[in-house]
Amino acid sequence: AAKGGGRGQYRFYHMDFTDGAKHRRQIEEDLRDAMEADTLEMYYQPIVESKTNKLKCLEALMRWEHEERGFISPGIFIPVAEDIGLIKDLGEWALRRACFQAKEWQLDLRVAVNVSAIQFARDDFPDLVKSILIESTLEPHRLELEITESVFVGDAERTQEKFEELKRLGVRLALDDFGTGYSSLSYLQHAPFDKIKIDQSFVRGATEKGNNNPAIMSAIVNLAESLKMETVAEGVETKDELTLVTERGASHVQGFIFSQAISQEELLERLERKDVFFEPRGPEKYRAE
Ligand code: C2E
Ligand code: MG
Ligand code: MG
Ligand code: MG
Repeated sequence: AAKGGGRGQYRFYHMDFTDGAKHRRQIEEDLRDAMEADTLEMYYQPIVESKTNKLKCLEALMRWEHEERGFISPGIFIPVAEDIGLIKDLGEWALRRACFQAKEWQLDLRVAVNVSAIQFARDDFPDLVKSILIESTLEPHRLELEITESVFVGDAERTQEKFEELKRLGVRLALDDFGTGYSSLSYLQHAPFDKIKIDQSFVRGATEKGNNNPAIMSAIVNLAESLKMETVAEGVETKDELTLVTERGASHVQGFIFSQAISQEELLERLERKDVFFEPRGPEKYRAE
């Protein structure tokens, strides 16, 4: 164990400097190769409006199918890309790809793109968004940027300026994974968010008796409503969860109950059939329009 280290430190030592390090170096190398070979893909997961059951938005989620290891979660490789300085290129690629593909959807659907705090910290981030909008000719109101509370660690004034620049471009801003950070409420004082995404940890277990999550969800929804922000309940998997989050007032729902993230090809097919996301556990079909 690391000298003088407590339990946490031992674990750190063990994971990062022995097997973990090797594994990680391999991921780093393979990720560089994957980017070079252009084998990463964007998949899209529907976000549905609760009141109307209409598809309103698709969240762009990165997918990497590794030759030997199979599918690797962005939850694993995005932090690696951040650490080794690849996120700048990777994030730019993702944003460009999502904007160009959304332009192919024909319908007035929005695309939500995740933005890493490191990517957001670039001084030229609003300019980058602007030029990608111009290149792709995507209407700005169709682009939503999902950011997490971690963007607030930097220069607060500059962060605020960037929000304003982005709003001036006409894009929408969503606060992702809400409720998982340290001091969520202060971020809402000035930031011009259009949407709050309630983290899926508040949905898990929410249907069990005596669980606190429904009360927390109601509080977040009330807060968002008074700030004129939309809400998305993330990670809704079952009919009971869908009923619960709708009762609690979430204006939008996202989760496996509708669909996992699907490829652009599959999305275009479903849009063509006007049969976008059938909901197998209930009587209703979820339509694009
Ligand atoms: P996120 O932005 O909070 O995305 C939602 C995650 O929840 C996705 O995982 C999605 O597949 C998953 N999910 C959606 N519905 C359900 C459900 O009903 N049940 C369960 N168990 N999970 C559900 P994914 O695709 O593995 O992405 C993980 C994280 O990786 C994302 O969390 C986001 O932080 C990051 N990420 C993904 N793509 C990108 C990207 O292009 N750029 C950046 N910077 N980050 C990305
Ligand atoms: Mg997200
Ligand atoms: Mg999220
Ligand atoms: Mg997340």
